Parts: sequence; structure tokens; C-alpha cells
Amino acid sequence: MREEYRYIYSLLIGHLNILNERCQPAKNKKVATPEKVAEYLEQATLENDCEFELIMRKRVEQQKKEIKEAIKRIEDDDYGTCMKCGREIDLRRLLAKPTSKLCYQCQAQQEKEEKMRKRGSNAESSLIVS
Ligand SMILES: [Zn+2]
Repeated sequence: MREEYRYIYSLLIGHLNILNERCQPAKNKKVATPEKVAEYLEQATLENDCEFELIMRKRVEQQKKEIKEAIKRIEDDDYGTCMKCGREIDLRRLLAKPTSKLCYQCQAQQEKEEKMRKRGSNAESSLIVS
């Protein structure tokens, strides 16, 4: 493991631990008590909570996946290299976002392309022609 990545490595491990702790399945979840009218309302909020939790959980799962991948890349000595152009990723960039897979230039390029894609099919077809 490269010396300068040791710190990032410990950051990633710490972050992963926090995510793991935060995402323990809720054990003391309130169960709607059968109390006439209130029951229905309670049920409705519970459903909303579940939906929110599902979105949050998905986001956290994605984060955990990215962190695990970054940890593995450090362990495999594959970390800090841009997946697109193969250049070294700036250390300051890695410190700001340790899960970065692209260098600054490639990331900017990708965001530009994504924006164009969102703008509609017209922009895309003109891209192919040129
Ligand atoms: Zn690059």
C-alpha cells in the first residue's frame, strides 16, 4: 500500500463502519396500535417512513459499495489511477472524495457528456455526426 494512501484507507474504513452502524435494521420500530381512527393515520405515516427508509437505504448501499470498491483498489495497489485515461488522480482530489475513480479532467468531461445527454436526443445525434 502506498504511504500517501494509508490515511485515505483509514478514512474509508472509518466511513464504512459508520455507515454499517447507522444501517442496523430498526429493532424498536413502532408497531401501529389498533386504536380506531388513529390506526389508519398511523398506518399511513408508517408507510411513508418505509418508503423514505428504502430510498435512504439504497443510497447508503450505493455509498457502501463505492467505499468497498475504493478500499479494495487500495489493497490491490490499483488506487489513485483514472479509470478512463490511466493518469494519476490528484491527491487533493482523492482526499476530498476518496471514492473518485476519474481524474479531474475526465470527470469534467463525463459531466459535460451527461449534461448533453440530458439536453435531449438532438444534441446527441449531432455529436455522432461530428
Ligand atoms: Zn482521466
